[in-house]
Amino acid sequence: MIYLDNAATTPLTESVIAEMTQAMTLQLANPSSIHTHGRLASQKLREYRQTVASLLSTTPNNIIFTSGGTESNNTALKGYALAHQEKGKHIITSALEHHSVLHTLEYLEKHFGFEVTYLQPVNGDIRLEDLRAALREDTILVSLMYANNETGDMLPIAKVGDLLKDHSAAFHVDAVQVAGKILLEPEKLGIDFMSISAHKFHGPKGVGILYNNRMLFDPLLHGGEQEDKHRASTENLIGIAGMTKALADSHDHLDENWNKVTRLNQAFLEQLSGLDFYLNSKAKAIPHVLNIGFPGANNGVLLTQLDLQGYSVSTGSACTAGTVDPSHVLAAKYGDDSPKLQESIRISFSELNTEEEVIGLANLLKSLLGD
Ligand code: PLP
Repeated sequence: MIYLDNAATTPLTESVIAEMTQAMTLQLANPSSIHTHGRLASQKLREYRQTVASLLSTTPNNIIFTSGGTESNNTALKGYALAHQEKGKHIITSALEHHSVLHTLEYLEKHFGFEVTYLQPVNGDIRLEDLRAALREDTILVSLMYANNETGDMLPIAKVGDLLKDHSAAFHVDAVQVAGKILLEPEKLGIDFMSISAHKFHGPKGVGILYNNRMLFDPLLHGGEQEDKHRASTENLIGIAGMTKALADSHDHLDENWNKVTRLNQAFLEQLSGLDFYLNSKAKAIPHVLNIGFPGANNGVLLTQLDLQGYSVSTGSACTAGTVDPSHVLAAKYGDDSPKLQESIRISFSELNTEEEVIGLANLLKSLLGD
């Protein structure tokens, strides 16, 4: 079986498994307990937080451990919007965001009367001038993703951070698809909230980070006083141990991994030459995600054929009862009626893939789709 669906999730590495096994063996107690066992656990938690903070060039009090990208996005958006609604009820985002952002904002619109502007891509890009035109006095929050999970396309986050220096709106960035792949320094980028999920960079599922640059927000989970009163519930120490190790490992090899994945992406495309295809990922996309369409193909059928031959890839949009839901990302780029929505699949690489695997997939696609 060959796994090329790394934008959905990545496998745990040996070193992450070893770190989590060691954390399990320590039988860490509840870090909130005041006895010696508890203090040992809270010392470990402090170490993990310190490591994560230094990898993100920030201070430990800006790091909140969560259950993943969805919770981090929900916390930043609902938490900030509800705490600041007296200042304004306008939020700006893009039509390309992950559902954990879009559905959260729809909830704020429906139940709390917020007004959300959805920036639409023009030639595939979210444009700064559109953001500038959408900003209003009552805009309290701007939420944009660093890279899209279906196409890998990168949004101009640093430029947005610059633009927002002259506006009081808070800036939330869903960095789930870039964490562990590029150096992330939210303080330098003018980011107020940033979401990260461990399982996208070879960490465990169900654990993540919300970076918060000392912004006031309501917690999503009420209860105990964990995470500096920002997130109740006993911390997932084993998950946090694995995530910290995975982030540290990826930062040790950022350039090397990026170059390897770039080579895999190129080798795949070179091998595909001769076949009729088009790319939905732009030149500015992260090399880890390749969204590619084959004129006349049906992506649901194609995914099944590939699966039967041992290749796991996806479309990036949800699959319900064996059929592929049309992608809201491709719909925003091309329109609801575009045949590209049915013809496209997402192949997503990690540095653990090999050239042999991607060439094998290209050859298989040629044999399935070629004349
Ligand atoms: N944001 C983006 C861009 C994602 O790709 C994902 C995961 O697919 C999430 C958020 C949600 O992360 P999690 O699975 O950790 O809840």
